[in-house]
Amino acid sequence: MTDHYRHRGQRRGLVTALRGRGIADEHVLAAIGAVPRHLFFDPGFEAHAYHDKAFPIGEGQTISQPYTVAYQTALLGLQPNHRVLEVGTGSGYQCAVLLQLTPLVHSIECNAVLFERTAQLLARLDVGRPDLHCGDGSLGLPEAAPYDAILVTAGAPALPPALLRQLKIGGRLVIPVGDAGQQRMVRVVREGPNNYLREELEEFRFVPLRGAAGWRT
Ligand code: SAM
Repeated sequence: MTDHYRHRGQRRGLVTALRGRGIADEHVLAAIGAVPRHLFFDPGFEAHAYHDKAFPIGEGQTISQPYTVAYQTALLGLQPNHRVLEVGTGSGYQCAVLLQLTPLVHSIECNAVLFERTAQLLARLDVGRPDLHCGDGSLGLPEAAPYDAILVTAGAPALPPALLRQLKIGGRLVIPVGDAGQQRMVRVVREGPNNYLREELEEFRFVPLRGAAGWRT
């Protein structure tokens, strides 16, 4: 599990590319610069790690594109004391980026194969210690709620009601919403007990959110 000077150079190149695409949050850029993305790849595919592209991770899933990770993370506006829930642990890369911004990261993955593999990987890496769960994240993670921020890394048909309920007042939900082929990034800020402000942002293409508040097929 080496992080060679060559990888660090490639990461600096990736950060420069993300800045060029409009990511301006220096905390987020530093987090991307700190996490060795190649360690989340099978060694045979390491050469792809610092391209700004999504990549297959098995089980029909992908590690998100670095631009998408940076874009979603910046929308959360994380502070070092914030409690965050990630829905869709996948490879664990986004989780590791969140851990550079706050130690209070909970992440839930519904695919048991990915969950086991990623839990073992994150235990070996020096990126922080998240609280990992296997289950249906479309229902949130009530035992650790409420959250300052909730990040969904799969495309939802609509806003999952449980995730809205599990936000603190002032908390933010960042989630791609749309049909299976294309989604719009949505940020929801909980302004009061029954008052939510919804912003519609850029278009993206994510794998589908499964589970009770996701796509059934
Ligand atoms: N954050 C991930 C990363 O950095 O690699 C991206 C993962 S991929 C784009 C989306 C993930 O969401 C997949 O691993 C998928 O199994 C997971 N997923 C889909 N529906 C889910 C649900 N209802 N609960 C939890 N995880 C879910």
